[in-house]
Amino acid sequence: MTPRTRPDLASIPAYVPGRTVPNAVKLASNETTLGPLPSVRDAILEAAATVNRYPDNGSTELIGALAARLDMSADRIAAGCGSVSLCQELVQITCNDGDEVIYSWRSFEAYPVVCAVAGATAVPVPNTPDHGHDLKAMLAAITDRTRLIFVCNPNNPTGSCLGKDELELFLDAVPDHIVVALDEAYFEYMRNAPGEDLADGIALAEGRRNVVVLRTFSKAYGLAGLRVGYAVADPEIIVAMSKVHTTFSVNSLAQKAAIASLGAAGELLARTDGVVAERERVRGALLEAGYSVPPSQANFVWLPLGEKSAAFTAAAVDAGVILRNFTGEGTRISIGDPHENDLFLAYATGAGREIA
Ligand code: PMP
Repeated sequence: MTPRTRPDLASIPAYVPGRTVPNAVKLASNETTLGPLPSVRDAILEAAATVNRYPDNGSTELIGALAARLDMSADRIAAGCGSVSLCQELVQITCNDGDEVIYSWRSFEAYPVVCAVAGATAVPVPNTPDHGHDLKAMLAAITDRTRLIFVCNPNNPTGSCLGKDELELFLDAVPDHIVVALDEAYFEYMRNAPGEDLADGIALAEGRRNVVVLRTFSKAYGLAGLRVGYAVADPEIIVAMSKVHTTFSVNSLAQKAAIASLGAAGELLARTDGVVAERERVRGALLEAGYSVPPSQANFVWLPLGEKSAAFTAAAVDAGVILRNFTGEGTRISIGDPHENDLFLAYATGAGREIA
């Protein structure tokens, strides 16, 4: 029988989101534990009154607010239905069948999926032994068919972060016709080491026409449920993205909530200090308990438990904590409220320690 759907879809890995279990603490999806600020909630309620109308397909007001905040022209910014949709758009605008997309692996699960769906060939380059990007190997993987490179910084799920200098050298070495997407979903949790500059993709994209920066309102801005992210790029890339954009996919509640969140950016970004402090506390406690924990610049930490990861994650559910398992590789723990983190640490230093 002739298949009704593309046979190759069977081999595409499905995205598996973090589980929800009643009464368990969810530290599996790198979300913010705090709900929206009153001003953001008000904006959502106000927008709810006009959902009989389609949203602004160009997210004009939101893009204007971002342009003002980032001090750049609006034609360098695109909004998307979460930054994951922007990853998809980038593959679509750069790749024909069989063109290649390089990314470090293990990294964000969506990269192989968006490549496969678009008919592009994924070229995963193994992480370094200390769980970061192997930039040298990524450069060596470039071929005549390479069209796009994803650099996830900080890297999900390992938390590793590239320094400004090494990233700059990498960008200089990539041929100008290859688009480099700097996926900075966790940018707001990065803190520079004393005496070092932050690897801020938007600053690095200045004057580099092939560099695209992806950021999101899902993490530090706490709007994961509304689905809104943005890209900063050369206007030529922004126009190309608009051609493949799913019409009206950034809904009106998301647009208004994002604008209100930018209005409260000071307060929202101040919250990240608490998360960063908890991240360091959790990492410190894990190190003290004998775990190997790479430094993280995101709102999660990575335990490279290898084959023990699945059992460690499964037993955590019995202790009331949902973590993210990467079978055979490791477990990712999102940073929650202090009491949630304590619950995790009680498990990790007790029953979990026996397993790991
Ligand atoms: N990039 C990375 C590295 C991520 O971890 C995520 C979310 N897990 C995203 C992009 C997508 O985020 P969103 O679609 O919610 O903006």
